[in-house]
Amino acid sequence: MEFKNSQKLYNKGLAHLVGAVNSPVRAFASVGGNPLFIKKATGSKITDVDNNTFVDLVLSYGPMILGHRHKKVQKAIDKALKNGYTFGASTKNEIKLAKIVCDAFPAMDKVRFVNSGTEAVLSALRLARAYTGKDKIIKFAGCYHGHSDALLVAAGSGLVTLSMPGSKGVPEGAVKNTLIAEYNNLESVKAHFEAHDDIAGVILEPVAGNMGVVTPKEGFLKELKAYLESKGAVLIVDEVMTGFRSTFGGAQELFDVEADIICLGKVIGGGFPVGAYGARNEIMEMVAPLGGMYQAGTLSGNPIAMAAGISTLTELKKQNPYEKFNSIAAKIEEALLTSAEKHGVAITVNRFGSMINPFFTNVTVTNFEEAQTSDTKKFATFFWEMMRNGVFLPPSQFEAWFLSSALRKKDMSIISKAIDAAMEKVAGA
Ligand SMILES: *Cc1c(COP(=O)(O)O)cnc(C)c1O
Repeated sequence: MEFKNSQKLYNKGLAHLVGAVNSPVRAFASVGGNPLFIKKATGSKITDVDNNTFVDLVLSYGPMILGHRHKKVQKAIDKALKNGYTFGASTKNEIKLAKIVCDAFPAMDKVRFVNSGTEAVLSALRLARAYTGKDKIIKFAGCYHGHSDALLVAAGSGLVTLSMPGSKGVPEGAVKNTLIAEYNNLESVKAHFEAHDDIAGVILEPVAGNMGVVTPKEGFLKELKAYLESKGAVLIVDEVMTGFRSTFGGAQELFDVEADIICLGKVIGGGFPVGAYGARNEIMEMVAPLGGMYQAGTLSGNPIAMAAGISTLTELKKQNPYEKFNSIAAKIEEALLTSAEKHGVAITVNRFGSMINPFFTNVTVTNFEEAQTSDTKKFATFFWEMMRNGVFLPPSQFEAWFLSSALRKKDMSIISKAIDAAMEKVAGA
């Protein structure tokens, strides 16, 4: 397998793009080598500029849940394009997507569309502060909530991969209201409430996917929510990654917990830039133009993105691929564990619905500290051998692999064979 054309474009890209990428997770910093340049993608497959075709388990880090260029989505986009690209005024489709989203999230009466997950989360924090009149926010180590100043502390994959403790350029003042707790540890949240009386709320990924997949312990979310209620603080559930990934709606539904404020992104844009935040009426009525919390956007509710989102969610509801996702993920887990045992490699596999990944460690992974016991050198060896055997993975130990409903038996067989070859390589390295 050759990567000559990617190599050429990479060298060319360095001149006017930072590291030849527009998002650091796309750089191959932690696995070595240079990033791939993509030519096109269809269904479960993605093809690079050297005409290498891979089964795609990146899926643009989540959005492409139906696989690439699903016929119905393509048709909806083509149709929307004919009417114009953006108007700076409301369209019917914004109402339609809002209804689909609010129907899927019982805790959400109203929603506001924005352009990215980052934007959704930073607006949600502003809303939590506006609603409670308090300033401090608790986040969990290893959870990623986009790149806004206040949340760029202890923030998972991109930062871990690049060994950055936080980020330069974030003033102390911007993070002074951010408190860090340990995932799956309610006591660490309580300790903050005992020390501070101005905590607006807690933000978390209901299933973490940005330190690798880490699931909440039995009862953790419910107990957290009950505790916050007793303190008059809000629960902000960041479902940018998990929304519509493991059930039609949120991970909240599977864990029987209702957020006060919900953040969405990725899947709801069907591959176009969309984010959203929503809550019950009483909270959302604080947002301008109904209330005094200002938040705006030139391209928010963009008609092409709305069309892609509506068609993706409509098709997703029809396909209802969630059982299938569970059984595919179970098969991948089995392939990983069987092969690891055969070749004497220590791994732990975590999965939730259509998100899965192995950690190269023999430690059970329930939080960020445990995730970091992973041998990232082994992951790098594994990653490249998976690529050579036709499977495109996120280039980081601390990213989830994503499944699409376009995966077929043939793809599964490619994945299983690649896993065995890659595990053998790790054992021999
Ligand atoms: C991807 C992600 C974000 C950020 O979304 P962007 O669209 O990249 O800004 C926020 N929170 C979570 C949980 C995510 O996975």
